[in-house]
Amino acid sequence: MPSHPLHSTIRRLYCNVCGIVYSTDRYFGRDWYCDCGGFILSAKEQGARLVIINHDPTPLDIYIDLVIHNRKIGDVLEETAEELMLK
Ligand SMILES: [Zn+2]
Repeated sequence: MPSHPLHSTIRRLYCNVCGIVYSTDRYFGRDWYCDCGGFILSAKEQGARLVIINHDPTPLDIYIDLVIHNRKIGDVLEETAEELMLK
């Protein structure tokens, strides 16, 4: 049984307006926005798990597995960095 690399689970990203598909290479480091102004979404059928950290609710929230509001992203990352092995 072949093993699948972890990054394959979030390989497919697409714009909800124009439908353009982004590679993760193109996506990472960008905002959640397409050049056309639409949102870039992950294909949920690929099994991706997404977290969004934003002060206020966003239209993307319904697509996200875990939504954190009213927190600063720096604070949340600081608190979770050890568990995520980012340190
Ligand atoms: Zn677009």
